[in-house]
Amino acid sequence: MEGSLRQSKSKATADESSSLKASDTVPLPVYLTNAFFFTVFFSVVYFLLLRWREKIRNSTPLHVVSLSDIAAMVTFVGSFIYLVGFFGIGFVQSIIIPEDDEDEFERLMVKEDSEKLPCAAAPKSDDLKIAKKIELTADDEEIIKSVVEGKIPSYALESKLGDCHRAAAIRREALQRITGKSLEGLPLEGLDYESILGQCCEMPVGYVQIPVGIAGPLLLDECEYSVPMATTEGCLVASTNRGCKAIYASGGATSSLYRDAMTRAPVVRFGSAKRAAELKHFLEDPLNFETLSLVFNSSSRFGRLQSIKCAVAGKNLYIRFSCSTGDAMGMNMVSKGVQNTLDFLSNQFPDMDVMGISGNYCSDKKPAAVNWIEGRGKSVVCEAVIQGDIVNKVLKTDVASLVELNMLKNLTGSAVAGALGGFNAHASNIVSAIYIATGQDPAQNIESSHCITMMEAVNDGKDLHVSVTMPCIEVGTVGGGTQLASQSACLNLLGVKGANKEAPGSNARLLATIVAGSVLAGELSLMSAIAAGQLVKSHMKYNRSNKDVANIKS
Ligand code: ADP
Repeated sequence: MEGSLRQSKSKATADESSSLKASDTVPLPVYLTNAFFFTVFFSVVYFLLLRWREKIRNSTPLHVVSLSDIAAMVTFVGSFIYLVGFFGIGFVQSIIIPEDDEDEFERLMVKEDSEKLPCAAAPKSDDLKIAKKIELTADDEEIIKSVVEGKIPSYALESKLGDCHRAAAIRREALQRITGKSLEGLPLEGLDYESILGQCCEMPVGYVQIPVGIAGPLLLDECEYSVPMATTEGCLVASTNRGCKAIYASGGATSSLYRDAMTRAPVVRFGSAKRAAELKHFLEDPLNFETLSLVFNSSSRFGRLQSIKCAVAGKNLYIRFSCSTGDAMGMNMVSKGVQNTLDFLSNQFPDMDVMGISGNYCSDKKPAAVNWIEGRGKSVVCEAVIQGDIVNKVLKTDVASLVELNMLKNLTGSAVAGALGGFNAHASNIVSAIYIATGQDPAQNIESSHCITMMEAVNDGKDLHVSVTMPCIEVGTVGGGTQLASQSACLNLLGVKGANKEAPGSNARLLATIVAGSVLAGELSLMSAIAAGQLVKSHMKYNRSNKDVANIKS
């Protein structure tokens, strides 16, 4: 990857220098400019030689110069620079980047693109549709006025117009007029508004741009991954990249996925606590599991009931259903299975009142011990042994300092803080960045970032064993935001786009291990920066651009 980046960089530099020629400095055709400078150059050379001969004949010292001599010398230098700029640089470039190589480079790039993406050269009609700038018509103006006056509800624009892009443009204009605030800077063009309808976002007026950086290659389970991270935090990608480098140089990381089940826990109520306890016995009796799973599984080809765990609170029962969900993150799937099972149970327990399909014992998007202890989504442990010299050279610290800092910060410090699943340095940084890039639900970062980072000196204290254990990685490669163009491109980069037809669920499981592997890299790098006392320095370098610093000073 680095190689290709270097290649494109040198190509870009060549492009820049070849597009800016010395002849561009004068607003004349190239041949006239060249003729002019040639004439000037040879004239001043002739003049200077004559002056030189004259001085020798008259025994005048050569360093005694007149005004005309100075003017001639300045003109000589100027025209010389021009001629070297025009011919010299072009000549050197032709040696460094032979034209054939450039053509070959171009050809390879086009070939590579077209191999990966059929018809890459010709934009698809969809691309044209989203690239097209919407021009608001007189009819649209009427609709905007109606929205501003409240005669047409903003949410109804898509169904009324049948054109999602136009609906977004009209809503945006109406919003600007209603609020009197400009949305300049929030792009409208460039998003396929059809693809978010009824799935990702209601009442769109544009989209926020978040840069995507690449960390890697991450060498995990003997495969290399370029990890896309969407973030606006300077230093994060660079730091994760450094962790990847240390892992790579040490032979790679290994992961194990030891649990795969999404959960949903409805709350049901009875007339007595005794009845609530009876339902708990019924649901947790292994003899009833087969019947219950038949009912649960009937609503999906992929959702498979794994276990049921109940918690009693007086007359109320919280039933935590866990089910595997194929390549989907699975909230919809598990909810459908739960609904089926509740319908079935209401026949067996007619006095049961369903108070809510979610009773927070699930527990979705909230810090909760049940997730940390029981797991939610995919549970993954990932480890690596980093050789001592790599710790010194790449991470700029030593094994003993890392082990001590991990004990004091990630274990003891987090215990002192009363942490819940937060026994790590910054797992959520990496989790959120990958989640946003790959179309996961960023709110699930809360439990997905539960992580305990362990560090131990091994091989007689020479090397470092590092691991991250993450019991709640909630990811999918189908459904939700994963189908949007940019998010889907990031999944494609990791080789986990969409549903895995041969082995349903293996794309989502692989993505979960990549998340854990990237967290391992992030933990290694940040812990090393803290151990080496580099944290503030590197953040000042990457988080404070010159512009910011200038602003602060002024
Ligand atoms: P979620 O349950 O994560 O909210 P959705 O219900 O939005 O996800 O998306 C899952 C949908 O994708 C279901 O309709 C399911 O049948 C379909 N699907 C197709 N292939 C797969 C697969 N390999 N794994 C899981 N779901 C799949």
